[in-house]
Amino acid sequence: MSKVLIIGAGGVGGVVTHKCAQHPEVFSEICLASRNQAKCRAIAAQLERPIQTAEVDADDVEALVALIESFQPDVLIHVALPYQDLTIMEACLRTGVPYLDTANYEHPDEAKFEYKEQWAFQERYARAGNMATLGCGFDPGMTNIYCAWGQKNLFDEIHRIDILDANGGDHGYPFATNFNPEINIREITANGRYWEEGEWKETEPLAEKRSFNFDGIGEKDLYLLYHEELESLSQNIKGLKRIRFWMTFSEAYITHLKVLENVGMTRIEPIEFEGREIAPLQFLKAVLPDPASLGPRTKGKTNIGVILDGIKDGKRRKVHIYNICDHQACYREVQSQAISYTTGVPAVTGAMLMLEGLWKGDGVFNVEQLDPDPFMARIGDMGLPWQMVELDPDADPLA
Ligand code: NDP
Repeated sequence: MSKVLIIGAGGVGGVVTHKCAQHPEVFSEICLASRNQAKCRAIAAQLERPIQTAEVDADDVEALVALIESFQPDVLIHVALPYQDLTIMEACLRTGVPYLDTANYEHPDEAKFEYKEQWAFQERYARAGNMATLGCGFDPGMTNIYCAWGQKNLFDEIHRIDILDANGGDHGYPFATNFNPEINIREITANGRYWEEGEWKETEPLAEKRSFNFDGIGEKDLYLLYHEELESLSQNIKGLKRIRFWMTFSEAYITHLKVLENVGMTRIEPIEFEGREIAPLQFLKAVLPDPASLGPRTKGKTNIGVILDGIKDGKRRKVHIYNICDHQACYREVQSQAISYTTGVPAVTGAMLMLEGLWKGDGVFNVEQLDPDPFMARIGDMGLPWQMVELDPDADPLA
């Protein structure tokens, strides 16, 4: 019987709250806090059991500490924005509350994300005997755990990892992003980057394109992107020679994005407009459909997973481990589409394992550093069953 404090009442916050509410045997008390309490109350109204709600500015450490001290949670799940990672980690450290997030710290005024500043908490968390679990969504999160599980149970050494993120969903709008548009657009307008033989290699944005036949979705175009889990996995998977990340985008999506970029709407530097400063990307976010509104409209499936290529007992082995998630089934269950669902379910599962002591440690951990077995055993029942297919070790499915 434990108390959970959830910060952030967006798409993912809604799923996390629903899923915690489905498990009263673990999460006996729930408080959902966000910048705008009305959004928390709207999520609370969807549930069959009562929860508390609160208003908090998660950029303000003192305000967070006051909220944590009044609610006294046993674990905090941070699903606000990546800009708040450091303030929330600081507040958890000061109050001795275990911390879990789904996205790596991002500098609000630079299109840049890296683990450096979160890893810098390592010594202070270890000294305090507290635990922070980083990146426990789907990617990062589930994908890292697939890699850790493969390393522990399938391979002596993993040499190559390709992370494949496919969304076969259709929301009917000409252009909309499935999660926070600001973060989504920043991610794909940046240069592509992958890690090979100990070095980072850069590509122009969306310059590397492949196609892959996804179970449950069919043939899709994939583009190479930099994604945050590459930073930690390249350090934590032994014997690794190359790791890349691929995401599907339709032709129409890329065309819209190119136009928005060409006219300057994806820029993050503020411009002067009618006497006030606005960042074009922030303005674009305000005119695009709210990702939370896509849920009822989205049909189709996601297929996200990893191709692991390595050695077992002296022989090459290649496997594809993935989850297929149906947007409409997610909506029926928690009133949200699959992108938020696939992020929120691993976050709740990770928090459960922390509360139960199956994930434990003093310090700051990326999820692949924790035991993948209890997670893989439970995640299917939590709503994200996985499958594994053996691939021909000599064939390149992304050729
Ligand atoms: P949303 O933008 O839908 O929700 C973010 C929520 O945080 C909103 O309720 C917002 O408030 C709130 N918030 C923002 N700033 C503050 C603040 N200063 N104080 C308190 N609350 C604040 O985003 P998503 O739900 O789509 O994403 C949530 C997180 O999940 C993000 O960090 C995202 O990067 C991550 N994510 C991770 C994925 C993964 O697989 N690992 C995939 C998808 C998302 P308001 O409503 O007032 O704006």
